[in-house]
Amino acid sequence: MMAPSFESEYEIRGPALIHPPMTKAMQNRSSSQSAEILARRDDFVPTALNAPETAAATPPSDWQTAMKRAVRSSAELRRILDLPAARGVTAEQSFPTFVPWEFIRRIRPGDENDPLLKQVLPQPGEDSIEDEQDDYPAFSADPVGDLDAAVASGLLHKYHGRALMITSGACGVHCRYCFRREFPYSQVCSSTDQWRPAVEYIRRHTEIDEVLLSGGDPLTMVDSSIERLMDAIESIPHVRRLRIHSRMPIVIPQRLTKSLVSRLTSSRLAIWFVVHVNHPNELDADLLARLGALVRAGIPVLNQAVLLRGVNDDAATLIELCRKLVDHRIQPYYLHQLDRVRGASHFEVSVAKGTRLMRVLRASLPGYAVPTYVREEPGADSKTLLPISRELSGKRCT
Ligand code: SF4
Repeated sequence: MMAPSFESEYEIRGPALIHPPMTKAMQNRSSSQSAEILARRDDFVPTALNAPETAAATPPSDWQTAMKRAVRSSAELRRILDLPAARGVTAEQSFPTFVPWEFIRRIRPGDENDPLLKQVLPQPGEDSIEDEQDDYPAFSADPVGDLDAAVASGLLHKYHGRALMITSGACGVHCRYCFRREFPYSQVCSSTDQWRPAVEYIRRHTEIDEVLLSGGDPLTMVDSSIERLMDAIESIPHVRRLRIHSRMPIVIPQRLTKSLVSRLTSSRLAIWFVVHVNHPNELDADLLARLGALVRAGIPVLNQAVLLRGVNDDAATLIELCRKLVDHRIQPYYLHQLDRVRGASHFEVSVAKGTRLMRVLRASLPGYAVPTYVREEPGADSKTLLPISRELSGKRCT
């Protein structure tokens, strides 16, 4: 098969918000690139959003309209959810609020401690909260060593046999604990030409048999872009599997269109789909029905969760999450120890507590329903297993 042409612009059309719009890290790297991103945001972000009440009353059938209607300020989010105004300054300048209505509808109004709200609501002073664990490197802009693993524009190569493409700087929601909240997206995914080196790197490296699409969120790309990228990857004979990491189906379930599922199932590659759910309240009926389309199509769906203080750091919540996932044939894959990204320290749970929680999970669930508890360490050749028992402590896994 001939490699597809990448001459036309690699489009990230529609309303996608490029994030972060101008981080400290980006300011340090290139002020011109930051300006370029801000200029592009004017193209993508509509200036006249629907009134919140209208957006709430009429859920759109298409995902791009859902992106357009997303709430983009913590003050607005608080107003919608009947919460008092925040006292103090939030970190919205460096990492803006972005929450779609489809997610907001699952949050309990008036409850500041709602576990879904906590994931998306900027906290005053989140950049200055103190570290709790002193046995591990401090909170930083790049806690998992992404920048050191970059081998081509938009491509990270950390682990043997696998390479990860940063396909988009946009997401369907901004999670306050995101380990890429300061990632310099403007340098890696702004045009078609910047993808060519990544594809060529994979073509040269015959040991790579699996490509991961990540971001940002790869499903913020329009279908035609996803198709062109899949065409390119499918044209590389030694690539056998394509893994798609996306939170879009969780926060905007209508993103899983029939045409997208059809394109995935028609691929010559074995497709693995990895979603990101942290709390059982995220799994509503509409979302589960749509994920069911992937499962029925024969695509394995796995879930990654992050252990987050005040969100899911209790055994009952984690057990309910795992049960609900496997009830719908979604496999709990990883439970991640928080990546120590700057601004997220208030989410950290100690490894000792995580270990205790994992023991309860092991005692309460069938083995296939128990996620693997891991931490990502910069420069390591795999994720690091965290202790559940003495035998497993410190071992590597894939
Ligand atoms: S955790 Fe995933 S969905 Fe959330 S902001 Fe980060 S990349 Fe986007």
